[in-house]
Amino acid sequence: MRLILLGAPGAGKGTVSKVLTELDGSVQISTGDILRGAVKAESELGKTAKGYMNRGELVPDDLILGIMEQRLLEDDCKNGFLLDGFPRTIAQADALGEMLTKLEIELDMVVELQVPRDEIVARLTSRRTCSNSTCQAIYNTRFKPSKVEGICDVCGSETIQRDDETETAILQRLDTYDEQTSPLVEYYKNQDMLISVDGTSTDTVVSTIQDNLSS
Ligand code: AMP
Repeated sequence: MRLILLGAPGAGKGTVSKVLTELDGSVQISTGDILRGAVKAESELGKTAKGYMNRGELVPDDLILGIMEQRLLEDDCKNGFLLDGFPRTIAQADALGEMLTKLEIELDMVVELQVPRDEIVARLTSRRTCSNSTCQAIYNTRFKPSKVEGICDVCGSETIQRDDETETAILQRLDTYDEQTSPLVEYYKNQDMLISVDGTSTDTVVSTIQDNLSS
């Protein structure tokens, strides 16, 4: 399958992607994960991206487009891909359209995950991530706490709150989504590519996507 997953941070794009990739061998492409990897590696890209990310702002389009142009050419994309966190602006969506035309690839659809804002804030402020960069296990103090508070079940390292998951950063990320990314809903609706799904339950999202793909 070839999908774009649209939705505010914390709407569950990553979780839904992971379930879907296991179904048919498509690959999840998360620009957020790619950027966090670059920040950890302290590469030039990471050094530039870090400030934007910690402030809850978008990294400039030209950096993201450079990443995506290369990523879509990689072999693992041949079995399909789920774009998680890209595109995030109209300019990125226009550029993606051009890339796909050049590669002669057609998208199946664009899926918008709808989750109320207060639910998103609650989900993200309670998220904890393992501080060990090779582990990165994710917990949630409300829904999926680690067995010992503050300690990763998998590797025993400390679990932390990401810099961009403090309440201030989250509210900024949500404002950024409303201002710069939500216009993509209309953009893809006008191209007749959009389905909007209640993102509260992952199972419902996955089955709705499967039903739409097979119809
Ligand atoms: P995410 O994990 O997808 O919420 O991304 C984390 C952060 O990475 C965002 O708050 C942005 O600062 C940056 N980012 C991820 N994807 C993009 C993108 N497509 N365009 C610009 N910035 C991005």
